[in-house]
Amino acid sequence: MNFFDSKNRTALLETMAETTYDLVIIGGGATGAGTALDAISRGMSVCLVDKQDFAAGTSSRSTKLIHGGLRYLKQLEIALVREVGRERAIVHRLAPHLVVSEKMLLPLIEGGTYGRFATSLGLMVYDVLAGVERPDQRIMLSKEKTIEYEPLIRTDILEGSGLYAEYRTDDARLTIEVLKTAAKMGAHCINYVEVKDFIYEPKKGKVAGVKCQELIAGQPLEIRARQVVSAAGPWVDELRQQNKSLEGKRLHLTKGVHIVLPHERFPVKQSIYFDMPDGRMVFAIPRGKTTYLGTTDTDYHGKKETPLTNLEDVEYLLNGANLIFPGLKLAVADVKSSWAGLRPLIHEDGKSASELSRKDEIFVSDTKLISIAGGKLTGYRKMAERVVDRVAKRLKKKFELEFGPVKTDKIDLVGAETLANAEAVEVYLRQVEEKLIPAGFSTLDASYLVHNYGEQTDTILDHLFAKEDHSPLELIRSELWFGFTHEMVISPMDFFSRRTGRLYFDIDSVREYMDPILEDFRSHFGWDEARYQQDRGYVEQALEQASEFPPST
Ligand code: FAD
Repeated sequence: MNFFDSKNRTALLETMAETTYDLVIIGGGATGAGTALDAISRGMSVCLVDKQDFAAGTSSRSTKLIHGGLRYLKQLEIALVREVGRERAIVHRLAPHLVVSEKMLLPLIEGGTYGRFATSLGLMVYDVLAGVERPDQRIMLSKEKTIEYEPLIRTDILEGSGLYAEYRTDDARLTIEVLKTAAKMGAHCINYVEVKDFIYEPKKGKVAGVKCQELIAGQPLEIRARQVVSAAGPWVDELRQQNKSLEGKRLHLTKGVHIVLPHERFPVKQSIYFDMPDGRMVFAIPRGKTTYLGTTDTDYHGKKETPLTNLEDVEYLLNGANLIFPGLKLAVADVKSSWAGLRPLIHEDGKSASELSRKDEIFVSDTKLISIAGGKLTGYRKMAERVVDRVAKRLKKKFELEFGPVKTDKIDLVGAETLANAEAVEVYLRQVEEKLIPAGFSTLDASYLVHNYGEQTDTILDHLFAKEDHSPLELIRSELWFGFTHEMVISPMDFFSRRTGRLYFDIDSVREYMDPILEDFRSHFGWDEARYQQDRGYVEQALEQASEFPPST
């Protein structure tokens, strides 16, 4: 049965209640998703629950780069840079439509973070650690060449630049495709199911499952497991507290904000990583009709489900951009959308937000709850491998169950089964353009679909072209149909934010299509008026939070 079809939710919940799994995972962000795919592909029976939508935590709120983390080189985190640097090429191979090569320009500014020699050396070390192949290795550019690459850049303090290779992605889509791949192999994954407590073995007191609340129909649910892993990101310590094992190292949450401007107001030609006046560095990344800018890094103690962008965050980013791109005179009124995310970092006494390590950490409690936190989106596969190695070891010792080694480096993600590399994606994109352009759509529409859905675009277009009307409204309704039937879309924000990225990168389309999309939800799920009004309120609130910036209190 296709359990990612939202109509099969009841059947999935019933199956989960009846099964004892080898592994239950709490959290459907990148870390939990990677863990589910790793475990199911080694032969474990797997269940994953998330209390929100999949990727609704940090994994839809990052800078959306699959990167080696150049700045961690400065902090001498060599092992981290090597691991995530090498992972970039693997994740690109597994989903070449979704993890796209992107050149990054690093301007050298008088009095900036790095001089020419240090930058050249640093980028060379970065290439070596990440195993970057020759055509993609860094090049150093003169001042004149840099201006050719990016004419908007301030010239009076410019000394040149470095140009190096990174990858761009969509964090939420990557997470969802990893989950769908795990589900296709037999993992049972579900959103809107919250773990409230643990089940313990009667005699030895070890964790033997989770006590949950299903949040849509409001039913309690118990799921039994030989092993439970918490990949709950910023919420990891709450679950350790519930497990009475919160001791020693703890999380330190920092907030990172990104703002989105129309590309015509911030028309950079490629991604740029530039200095801020306080010595931090931020990215400006063009995407579709927009350019986004981020991030901030400030300590956070508020509600974890809804970190918000405030005016100070926006002004900080705009001031920095206006120093390097003075001709643009960017203002708060130019900002169309934004998002804020929480980094679940591991606390270190005396270190500021920016200085904290991005390494991941595994905690094992006396009751054998395994928790994993920290790390990077880019490293999700290696984090999963480390945690599943531990699970396999315990299942062997305690239950004499044998599982094979990791194989996720060879499992293409759903949407990329026949897309072997970037060239194949280009060929497929041309085919999609040939179908869409005669129907009145643009190359941008084709590119959006292919980079979001890969070869699943065919399924969406088959649905569209089976109708008489091929308007933009019918295309978005076909995307929604795909979301209902293949991607476990339950609420309008699952669709507008995590499945399509429209809330951030095409916010006007959310305003334009909200009414017919909500009507489709009403008829698909048989919503009554109260449910309709409630979800309409959530969409209106999300629009407001993304585009209005109150001062911090
Ligand atoms: P999350 O994505 O937060 O997932 C945890 C999940 O657990 C959530 O969905 C939550 O709902 C669920 N959950 C919590 N409690 C419960 C419960 N009781 N029951 C059920 N479910 C529960 N990394 C990169 O590689 N590249 C970048 O460009 C990058 N940029 C970043 C920029 C910012 C501003 C931030 C904040 C982070 C960035 N990162 C980046 C880091 C990366 O985003 C994170 O490391 C990664 O997304 C963490 O994923 P996770 O699965 O551990 O946590």
